Amino acid sequence: MAEKGKSDKWICLARDKKTNDVKRIWRRKKSDGTIVYKVRQNNPNPDATDGKWKCRFGKKSTATEAKQWAEKQGYAVYQSKDAFPFLVLNGGAWGNDKLSKKMNKLGQKHKRYLRMGSYMRTQKSQHELYLKYIRGTGNLAAYCNTKYRGEHSWEQCKKYPPCNSNHCGGNASDASYYHSGRSGNYTNLGYNDKVRKYMKELGLCLPVSGEKWHTEIGTVWRS
Ligand SMILES: [Zn+2]
Ligand SMILES: [Zn+2]
Repeated sequence: MAEKGKSDKWICLARDKKTNDVKRIWRRKKSDGTIVYKVRQNNPNPDATDGKWKCRFGKKSTATEAKQWAEKQGYAVYQSKDAFPFLVLNGGAWGNDKLSKKMNKLGQKHKRYLRMGSYMRTQKSQHELYLKYIRGTGNLAAYCNTKYRGEHSWEQCKKYPPCNSNHCGGNASDASYYHSGRSGNYTNLGYNDKVRKYMKELGLCLPVSGEKWHTEIGTVWRS
């Protein structure tokens, strides 16, 4: 890989859709004026929250160009958190834009900020949850890989992606609404009838029984 040049800047964070690794998208202006993009390195903290997920360049055209380039290479690009003003990310990373848009509308309709307790999960965090589950110290958790079922190490696990949770693809969010403001007390979405009605209007559902927070796009209601 080429050395970093003076004009290099990293613009966006992007998730590899196959491995869920989070990478940085860099932009280089060559001496002849042409612009090239590169996926350069893992982001040091794949589970970083909130403000860290911003596209760094103010110029909209630059961000759009980088996003289009990365999507062609098989990456999902994180939106600026400003794109979803009603969502407060609380652990995990941003997931599917389509789901974020619907969740943001839900917050807007309900006139409350939504607490996104767990959204996009890495395979590694799913691995940790799964081990807690089989050891009897955590909640029911989906498989973390496609091969191992009992006790296994992360070294074994990471060779068999992806994990079997919709969180790993960024297609599920564990959401609640804050009673006021962007912190403090909150209630899981499914306990409020008005919220349930809005969710139906927006094409959102609670597909996992006993989980009044696990929200996906769809029409399957088990909670
Ligand atoms: Zn595992
Ligand atoms: Zn969930």
